[in-house]
Amino acid sequence: MVSSPRGVFDILPDQSWKWQHVEEVARELAGRYGYREIRTPIFEHTELFVRSVGETTDIVEKEMYTFSDRSGRSLTLRPEGTAGVVRAYLQHSLHKGGGRFKAYYIGPMFRYDRPQAGRYRQFHQFGIELFGVADPLADAEVIALGYRYLQRLGLRKLQLEVNSIGCPRCRPAYRRALVAAFTPASDQLCADCARRLHRNPLRVLDCKRRACRRLTERAPAMRDFLCDQCREHFATTCRLLEAVGIPHRVNDRLVRGLDYYTRTVFEIVYPSLGAQSSLCAGGRYDGLVEACGGEPTPGVGFGLGLERVLLAMEKEGVMPQPPPQVDAFVAAVGEVRTERILEVGEMLRQAGVAAELGEPGRSLKSQMRRADRLGARWVVILGEEELGRETVSLRDMLIGEQREVPLATLVRTILEGSDSRREANGG
Ligand SMILES: [Zn+2]
Ligand SMILES: [Zn+2]
Repeated sequence: MVSSPRGVFDILPDQSWKWQHVEEVARELAGRYGYREIRTPIFEHTELFVRSVGETTDIVEKEMYTFSDRSGRSLTLRPEGTAGVVRAYLQHSLHKGGGRFKAYYIGPMFRYDRPQAGRYRQFHQFGIELFGVADPLADAEVIALGYRYLQRLGLRKLQLEVNSIGCPRCRPAYRRALVAAFTPASDQLCADCARRLHRNPLRVLDCKRRACRRLTERAPAMRDFLCDQCREHFATTCRLLEAVGIPHRVNDRLVRGLDYYTRTVFEIVYPSLGAQSSLCAGGRYDGLVEACGGEPTPGVGFGLGLERVLLAMEKEGVMPQPPPQVDAFVAAVGEVRTERILEVGEMLRQAGVAAELGEPGRSLKSQMRRADRLGARWVVILGEEELGRETVSLRDMLIGEQREVPLATLVRTILEGSDSRREANGG
C-alpha cells in the first residue's frame, strides 16, 4: 500500500462538511463586498513567483515545488494566490473594466515547509485582491472583510494588528536606519538575516528566531520615517476601522520585506494557536502589478489560511453541528419489490429530498439503525399491504411519531414537515 506524502492530508467525507462550511461563508461574504471568484491554474511559470513573491524570500529560496515538465519548462506549484491573479489580470487586460478589479479565490497552495500542526505542504487559502483603488477606504474595506469573515465563523478572540511600511519615497531612509542599527551586531543575526541584511533589512523584523527578535526590540520604527502622505494614509485607515467598530493595535514589527509592498500591512491573529497563530495576512502592494510587467496600479488584498481557521474554531468551540447526511430513509419490510424502493427514493430525490435506501431483505431494526446513523429526520417504511392501498408509513424521527400517508402526498408531507421545523429553529 502506498500512503500519502508527508505534510499533506485527506479531507474525508465525515470532515468535508467543515470545509464546505468555511468556504460557503467565504463565498457568501466576498459576494456581499462585491467580489467575484477567480480560478487560476495550480501551476505557473517559475519566473512569475520569482518576480512577484521575490527572490530573497524564504518561499522562493527554499519552499517552492519546482519541476521541469516534459519539454523542459520550469514550472512551480503555486505557493500563494496573488501572483496568479496578477498574471491573469495582465494577460486578459482586466484593468479595462473601469480601472477597478475585484476578485476572490479559494484553493490549495503548496510549500515545502517543515510540517506541524496548522502547517502543511498542501494548504488552503481564501484570498481577495482589489486593484485600482489608492484610497485608504480600500484598505479599511479589505481589512473589514477579513475580520468580519472570522467573526461570522464564530471566532471572538481575534487580534488585528496593523502597521504602515511607507512608500518608495520614505522607506529608503528607514532601510538605511535599520542597516545602521543591525550592522554593529550583525554577528548575532541568524545566517539568513545576516546574508539578507543589506538587500532586505526589513526581513530581520519579520524573523522568528530568538536572536534576531532580541536585536529588533530596540530597532527604529517605520512610523518615525513615514512621509506626510503615508502618515495621512495610515491615520485614515485606522480612523475608518474605528468608525466601523473594528478594534486594532499598531505593531511596529509587522512588515513585508518586498519593495512593491507599500503602506498598510495587517495581520489577524488568534493568539492561542501559538506559533501558527496568524489566520489572515494582507496589505497594500501598489508596486506589484508594475513588478509583473503592467502599468503602475494600486493593489490591496489578503490571504487567509483555512486549516488554521478550522483549528481556531475547534479551539474556541464554535464548530457547528454536522448536517444530517440525508433527510429521508426509505426502508422496506416483507416482500416489497426492489423496484418500489428505488421508485420511492427517486421520487423523493427529484423533489429535492436527500434520500438513502434500505437494502431489500434486511430487518426493519437494522434499517432503522442505519437511518439513525445517517441523521435522517424521516423514515418512509414500505410494506406490501400499505403499497396495495397506495400508502406508506412515515415515521418522524424528531418527535417519534408514525402515521400512514398516501404515496401521492408523501413528498408534500415531508417538505412541509421539514419547513415547519426550520421555522421553529429560526432558520
Ligand atoms: Zn511615504
Ligand atoms: Zn533572522
